[in-house]
Amino acid sequence: ANPEVVDINRLVHETLAFLRQNIPRRIYLEENLSENLPAVYADRLQLEQLLINLVVNARDAIGEDAEGSIRVTTAKATFLDGTQGVVLTVSDTGRGIPEAIQERIFDPFFTTKEPGKGTGLGLSTVYGVVKRLGGTVTFHSRPGQGTAFFVTLPVHASRT
Ligand code: ADP
Ligand code: MG
Repeated sequence: ANPEVVDINRLVHETLAFLRQNIPRRIYLEENLSENLPAVYADRLQLEQLLINLVVNARDAIGEDAEGSIRVTTAKATFLDGTQGVVLTVSDTGRGIPEAIQERIFDPFFTTKEPGKGTGLGLSTVYGVVKRLGGTVTFHSRPGQGTAFFVTLPVHASRT
């Protein structure tokens, strides 16, 4: 990894500008950035990949022909020990994650997609990146309504 000081809002804005090419027009992609965020210390490319993985999953959850929306939000977080950080949220109006598979989605190679459409490595990669940075990743999903993933990143992430 090659850690540096990263402005999360800028990273989100630039990554979504790039990702839009891969999101059909029937899907509304919304960016909701909070001002005055602390910078995080992380590998920029790994954070880009994390965001790409979450947004591509959100797109896939909306499905082939449906309309829907994906919202990416940044906010300041204050942790229980008083330290500060950033919370990045990616939420979608897709099909949701069935209760029965929720505990497996971060497992490497776990996928519900057709062969060739998913490797099952997206979320395990997200988990690994977040864990190395000392953050957390959680989600909340309602089958039939949508899913939100929440990534927290501490400001003084460990330098690995
Ligand atoms: P892949 O996308 O290659 O299947 P991931 O690790 O990215 O692998 O995701 C694993 C599985 O978790 C997906 O196949 C899907 O079943 C489920 N999943 C992930 N994100 C979402 C989401 N936003 N909405 C619904 N299901 C999701
Ligand atoms: Mg994926």
